[in-house]
Amino acid sequence: MLTIKCSGCKRKLWKYRKTGPGQVLRCHKSRITRKIESLEKDGRIMCPCGQVVGIDQGGFYKMISRAFIFTGTKDTS
Ligand SMILES: [Zn+2]
Repeated sequence: MLTIKCSGCKRKLWKYRKTGPGQVLRCHKSRITRKIESLEKDGRIMCPCGQVVGIDQGGFYKMISRAFIFTGTKDTS
């Protein structure tokens, strides 16, 4: 499980169950297990501090790599 955080203020935004290797380029909505402090506005998902961290693409958020960091481990199954 990964915890996605804002790169600007380090707030926790949501918990994400990532599968497979590689970078976090997208966050599929079905694998977001818990929203913490994220806000959705105008087709974007953002931190309460105002930083936009992703663009709503329907089934997933296209992530803006410089706008977030993550902690935790990727699921290997
Ligand atoms: Zn922030």
